[in-house]
Amino acid sequence: MRCMELPEKVGVTTKGAILLGQHVACDAFEKTRPLRVVTHAHADHMNGLGQSLKNCDKVVMTSATRDLIAALKGSNFLKKGNVQTVEYDEPLIFNGERLTLHRVDHILGAAQVLVEDADGVRILYTGDFRIKNTPVIPSDVLVIEATYGNPWRTRDFEEEAGNLLVSIVEKGLKQGPVYVFGYHGKLQEVMQILHKARIQAPFVMPEKILQLSKIHQKHGTRIVRPLFSSKHKMQSTLLGHGQFVAFYHMSWRKKIAQEKFRVFVSGWEFNQPCRRTGENEFVVALSDHSDFKGLIEYVRQSKPKLVITDNFRAGDAETLANQIEKQLGIEARPLPS
Ligand SMILES: [Zn+2]
Repeated sequence: MRCMELPEKVGVTTKGAILLGQHVACDAFEKTRPLRVVTHAHADHMNGLGQSLKNCDKVVMTSATRDLIAALKGSNFLKKGNVQTVEYDEPLIFNGERLTLHRVDHILGAAQVLVEDADGVRILYTGDFRIKNTPVIPSDVLVIEATYGNPWRTRDFEEEAGNLLVSIVEKGLKQGPVYVFGYHGKLQEVMQILHKARIQAPFVMPEKILQLSKIHQKHGTRIVRPLFSSKHKMQSTLLGHGQFVAFYHMSWRKKIAQEKFRVFVSGWEFNQPCRRTGENEFVVALSDHSDFKGLIEYVRQSKPKLVITDNFRAGDAETLANQIEKQLGIEARPLPS
């Protein structure tokens, strides 16, 4: 197959829809595509979801992603359209194309999307991923995320960051409560790390985070302990007792617990696993995305003939495309250009 035919089978629109084959648009609404796929429940992958529910034949996602979206947007939101849940590795055939969601290490329910077209061409979109526990899928055309698509964006200390997080929280708990701030999915990962490290202090959180965390528990994430709402009557007991770990969305960082012991978890840290930003304030480098090396490694193993780097979402798609050509000798371009 000549490489020039491949671009017809793939695209990224100016609204962020990843087009795979003839029928599929991932992560944004595209009116010419009857199948909308939601790779995961992060906001920049749910673009135009209301329009997709109204207009598409099917809106496809894993059942965990469906549960998370229902919790984030209200239980009636998804009832506006024809949602079809598809589990990992179970293909869905649509007008001669075969769509399969594969597991990916990012947040609960996240998937990478493979479309095999009538010519047998394998067109793959990674969605967001962390290379560590993501199976690499062989592809002919690959669309890859580019969040850390710059050679400067490498992190060689991921294990270390988890251990440091535990010791910082332990240190904080000796003084009183510890407030952890992060994004959806990341917070639950922190809960898992602290739970696994046998941190005994109760976990307290606002109602929405509690709801999302219970969905993680339902879908098998190992946070096997009771979780408490910060609204709960229990709170006064917990506060009186003084030792608890509170979990808040990053958007609350300026609204709450300014004077308390605070830990922020962020992927945008590259020089060191942990940084002290105040008397009782720390940033820990915990990411649910691959660093630059992980992105290159995925392409190397997937062996595509053409790579498209996602230039719609935040990241460094242009540099990543250049580096893929330079390091791997595979044709690559950022889209939208
Ligand atoms: Zn994401």
